[in-house]
Amino acid sequence: MNCHTCHTDVLLTHRVEILDLVENDAQDPPKAFRTAFVCGTCYTRLDTVDAVGLIDGRMYKLDEGSRFGKATLYGRSIFDYYQRRQALKLEPANAS
Ligand SMILES: [Zn+2]
Repeated sequence: MNCHTCHTDVLLTHRVEILDLVENDAQDPPKAFRTAFVCGTCYTRLDTVDAVGLIDGRMYKLDEGSRFGKATLYGRSIFDYYQRRQALKLEPANAS
């Protein structure tokens, strides 16, 4: 599993709702949190008093629900299960 913020391959990740602050620039798109997986080290750096962390020169912000250690811990099997569920959701409905 790849950490969203430091891109390290890890065995355990925290599922968080996260906002990439640097991606909201010129076009000023609506700021939207999205689901991502971060390693324990990054989670500690993001789960701060203001929920903002700087990792690899990029700024990230955690959603309220992912703060104070509340982010769910994912191991390999539940991560794979989650990915499969997401893949199914993305498949177009059967056209008839
Ligand atoms: Zn990381």
